Amino acid sequence: MIYLDYAANTPVREEVLTVFAETSRKYIANPNSSHSLGLQAKERLDECTLRILTLLGVQEREIVYTSGATESNNLAIKGVAAAYKNRGRHIISTYLEHSSVNGALSFLQNTGYEVDYVELSKDGLVDLDHLKELLRADTILVSVCYVDSEAGLRQPIEEIGALLSGHPYCFFHVDATQAVGKIPVSFEGVDLFTFSPHKFYGLNGCGALIKKSSVLLEPMIHGGISTTAYRSGTPALSLVAATDEALFLAYTDLEKNLLCVKNLNDQLRAELRQFRNVRINSTLHSTPFILNISLPGVKIPAILAEFEKNDVFLSSKSACCAPNTISRPVYALTHDRKAAMSTLRISLSHLTTTQDIASFLEHFDNCCKKFAG
Ligand code: PMP
Repeated sequence: MIYLDYAANTPVREEVLTVFAETSRKYIANPNSSHSLGLQAKERLDECTLRILTLLGVQEREIVYTSGATESNNLAIKGVAAAYKNRGRHIISTYLEHSSVNGALSFLQNTGYEVDYVELSKDGLVDLDHLKELLRADTILVSVCYVDSEAGLRQPIEEIGALLSGHPYCFFHVDATQAVGKIPVSFEGVDLFTFSPHKFYGLNGCGALIKKSSVLLEPMIHGGISTTAYRSGTPALSLVAATDEALFLAYTDLEKNLLCVKNLNDQLRAELRQFRNVRINSTLHSTPFILNISLPGVKIPAILAEFEKNDVFLSSKSACCAPNTISRPVYALTHDRKAAMSTLRISLSHLTTTQDIASFLEHFDNCCKKFAG
């Protein structure tokens, strides 16, 4: 089997499973219970939280554990919009965002908020001059992904944060789901950010929203104060401990894995350039974990089915996108409908081998001959 869909999900690490099982066995109490077993569970939860925040370089901030980045993004965007609706109802975002950001923004548009989209440079970076033009006195939120899930473009988050520091009434939200645990990140100037551990060999079913304490949110889930007023419910201690372990391991190997994936990406890019019909969409600003290409005029579902017959697994777009629609990020980048309709997203890992790449290219060549003529 050749798995090239690591941007959608990664296999869980054994060490993470061990921590999950050990924590589940050892801590039977609810971290919110006031007896000593509850306090022990709470202590372990706090220990994990402290290490997660420390690894991310944001010790002073607050963490809200959720079910995944989809929930985190919804809570960040709708939560800020509702809490600050009397301050303004204008939001700025990009065409690169994941459906959990787009969906939350569409929901807000239908309830009276105004959303503007900032243009991209030809290499796919947020146009800072256009962002400046779009900012208004009633802009309450700017939401930009650190790395988008389709073209893998890494945005200048620090520069955007610096620009927004001149707008103290506007918060900056960053969807860092495709960045955390993969590339070095800095959240200087960022008010809220989100991620989930299943992108870095952790478990599914857990996610995080990290925010400055001064940022208020209208909760999406009501019913009791629990660990945080922003998301009620018994904290999933074992999932949090698994997240902490996954993040720790990801940071331990970050540079090594990044270099390994960069070499694989270079190999893949160089080979794909040889194909006449291939258009490489990922730019010099894309992380090496995602290589997006288009095969204009080719029926992508047929190609994907053929790959699958040969035990090769990859995606056309983000797994959360509606099928048979264009890739919004690729359209924003290329302004080419044919290219945006025919994308393949190849996403890599340190677990990918050079042999995987070579075999993939062999299958790719056969597919191109069969489907692209
Ligand atoms: N944001 C981005 C950039 C993503 O790639 C994803 C996962 N495809 C999400 C948000 C949603 O994450 P989750 O699956 O944890 O809800």
